[in-house]
Amino acid sequence: MWSSDLGSSRTNSVASRWLMGVLPASLYKMNADGANLTVLSVTRAITESFNKMAREGITVRDLKSRGGGVVVTRLKFVVTGFRGDWKAFVQVFGFNRLYSTDKVCWLCDGCKGSHNMTNCITDVSVNAPWRSTYLVTAPWGTPPPYTSLVGFELSMVAPDLLHIWNLGMGRDLAGSILKVVIKDRRVFNGQSIDSRLNEATDALRQYAKNTGQSLKIKRLTRGKLHWETRKYPELMTSGHDTAVVLEWLQETLQPYVHIYGDFLTLLWTSNWCFRLFYGTKEWFLTDAQRQTVRVLGRVFLQVYVGLARTAIQNKELLWRFRPKSHLVDHCFELRRAVNPSRYSTWMDEDVLKKLGKVLSMTASKTAQIGVLQRYLMGVPEHIRQAELARVG
Ligand SMILES: [Zn+2]
Repeated sequence: MWSSDLGSSRTNSVASRWLMGVLPASLYKMNADGANLTVLSVTRAITESFNKMAREGITVRDLKSRGGGVVVTRLKFVVTGFRGDWKAFVQVFGFNRLYSTDKVCWLCDGCKGSHNMTNCITDVSVNAPWRSTYLVTAPWGTPPPYTSLVGFELSMVAPDLLHIWNLGMGRDLAGSILKVVIKDRRVFNGQSIDSRLNEATDALRQYAKNTGQSLKIKRLTRGKLHWETRKYPELMTSGHDTAVVLEWLQETLQPYVHIYGDFLTLLWTSNWCFRLFYGTKEWFLTDAQRQTVRVLGRVFLQVYVGLARTAIQNKELLWRFRPKSHLVDHCFELRRAVNPSRYSTWMDEDVLKKLGKVLSMTASKTAQIGVLQRYLMGVPEHIRQAELARVG
């Protein structure tokens, strides 16, 4: 699937995402090193196609009704970035540094510290040694086909805010804060944990109603929080709900700043950064915006890791720091001026859901071609709808 950076219907998922092909996982052939040979062959063909579009482009001639002979313009296409969740990147780029290995990151030499703590990703200080390894070494054995794209740079493979924050660290943050606050009986004071969770649910729903936001989550429950003692808490919410819950927590804890000062620092700094990422329409952030995110992001990570260290000393499972959290660090670092939200996959996930429905109605033997045909039949109508919405 690809989309145009210059397209006019960016907020309409089906009118902005263009399907290139459908590849059933049953066709995957893996080699001994775990590289997905099928995906790599397909990306080789896609690379050749895109490079042809970058070098030769498409000639656009005058309308047939006006003679059709005059060349109006020549359109060229250049790949400027890659969107996808981490698993997809691992398949497409054949990364040998990933969430399941000691070295976790495709962008730097950050590691979990299983053998050596030097580049450990829980060092979130400004001078953390891993910061000076940004883009220094390649995260693959053999360079994958996409590296031959015209203008390719590894930094174009951008972490996806939806998966790393809204479905990642944001859920860990909401889970740990809620667990402590519910246990404490200061903000919600029902007799049992369940009655306090009910109070919290009512307050959350009221907040969503007051701010005109919808919620997918029906109730806050122990199950939804992974309350068991041998697990890190994580609030199992949708990406959108995570954002609502974190804003609600900030408002709810405000009167308790003398007790939950650190929690409010975490919520205030992270909510500010993500409101900026998601709320800024421009492709590029200004120098001032980048500097503010760097400062607030650094405060957020240092407080978070500080709480995590204290929790370990107290033998409590709270404030989980996982490989995704390290990608959040890269997003706050903002080495590139591009707004990281431009590489989040909300719209892509939406299209995939719709295509999934089409797929379920298509005979499995002909699914590859069937889904493409049905998708193409819908394209004119999608564009018409998006244009109508745009001109209002
Ligand atoms: Zn890294």
